[in-house]
Formats: sequence, structure tokens, C-alpha cells
Amino acid sequence: MPLLPIPNRLVVLTFDDGNKSDFTYVAPLLKQYGFGATFYITEGLNFLTNKQHYLTWDEVYQLHQSGFEIGNHTRHHTHVNEQTQEEFLTDLEYINARCQQYNIPIPETFCYPAAIHSPQSLEVLAKKGVRFARRGDAICGMEPEGGRGPAYDPNVHHRLLIPTTGMSGPNWSFDDFVWAVEQAKDGKVAVLTFHGVPALEHPWVNTPPDDFKVYMDFLNDHGFTVIALQDLSKYVDLRMERSGNQSARV
Ligand SMILES: [Zn+2]
Repeated sequence: MPLLPIPNRLVVLTFDDGNKSDFTYVAPLLKQYGFGATFYITEGLNFLTNKQHYLTWDEVYQLHQSGFEIGNHTRHHTHVNEQTQEEFLTDLEYINARCQQYNIPIPETFCYPAAIHSPQSLEVLAKKGVRFARRGDAICGMEPEGGRGPAYDPNVHHRLLIPTTGMSGPNWSFDDFVWAVEQAKDGKVAVLTFHGVPALEHPWVNTPPDDFKVYMDFLNDHGFTVIALQDLSKYVDLRMERSGNQSARV
């Protein structure tokens, strides 16, 4: 399929950590608008023990069945810059295997735990054929309690270091949201990162459900195209390997 030009008002929606609200609140709401999204799953944090706050694998499967993308967020949610390449690969492949076990396709996209990346982990992702990986709004890591980052520009950013344009949290307001999505123009894509709606265990990345509904209404009312990270392959040439200087800056 020939690549499509990146339209104005293209927004990628991502949700980290497998919060229960992915299933109980976010997905049903996104379905009403026909929006795509990626849910990044890890068995770290308290995924294995706190099933009130985190998804079950059956719910992850149902999210996939409803048409959403399931992405890899590693087995243990360990900072990848503290792991050997072998340790990172093992954690990455573990989530792939869990997905296969639940009849979920092997994830094509990845999200760095705590948004911390490293040249070594990028090498592993490239070797494994991961198509896109999302980082935080800061150069490495994320702004505490929400913030602004660059819009994704395939001419500037490596496809395995896609920045977060808007990171939702207590310090992120409607104005920040509008600023982020207004960056989606001139060949650039706005990438939004959410956690739980609400994030019951992690108040520093919380999004109140009423606020989230306002954001989604705005995207709907203003004619945005809202996609999962893997859908970028319709627009971005995967052979394009930009910015060796970006990974050198890690
Ligand atoms: Zn995370």
C-alpha cells in the first residue's frame, strides 16, 4: 500500500500500565467516537496482585477484540537503561508470549517503562522488528505530573523514539491538551499519553474521567483523526531511520 500523506489533525492516543479504567471507562467511550488507541501492557507494578486496579489478561484480550491495539510495556516495568540487552529482550519477549497465549497478536509497538530509554534498548527493538516505540515528553523520562513535549515529526524523530506531545497528569490542563493537539499539522502528529482514567495507584499521572470526556469531545467536535500508534505505518516509511544523533543524545 502506498503511504498516505500525514493529514493535519492526526492524533495518536496511548494508555500506559494496563489500568482497569482502560476496560471499564476508556475503551467504551472511544468506541462511541470510533477512535483508535493503544493500550500498553506490563505485568510489573501491581498488575499481578491488584486486579481491582489493573486489567486481567482476559480483559486485555477483549480490548484487542474490540479493535484496539495492545502494545508491549515489558514484563517487569524495569527502567531499560538499568538492564542488559539480554534482560531487556527477555522482558520484551515475555509480554509477546503472554499475548500469543491469549490469542492477541504479537505487539508491533512498544512503550518505554517510565519513558526512560537507552541506545542499547533501541538496538534490541530494531532487531526484533518493532515498528514504533513511544517515549516521554522530556528527552528521556517524563515531566512529573504531566507536561508538554514535541509533536512527532518523522523527518526529525527516530520511529523508535517517538515523543509524547501531551502527557496527562495533575499539572496538565485543558489548555495544555489543546496546545498539544494543535501541534498536529504540517506533517507532524500529536501523540498523547494517558495512564488510568482515573489512575488509582498513581495520582501523579491521574486523569479525571470528566476531563477525559471533555478532551475526547473536543477531538470529535473538531474533526481530528484519532489512531493507535501502529496505525502510523499507513503514513510513515518504516525504512526511514532518522536521527542517529537523537539516540546518541540519550
Ligand atoms: Zn508505565
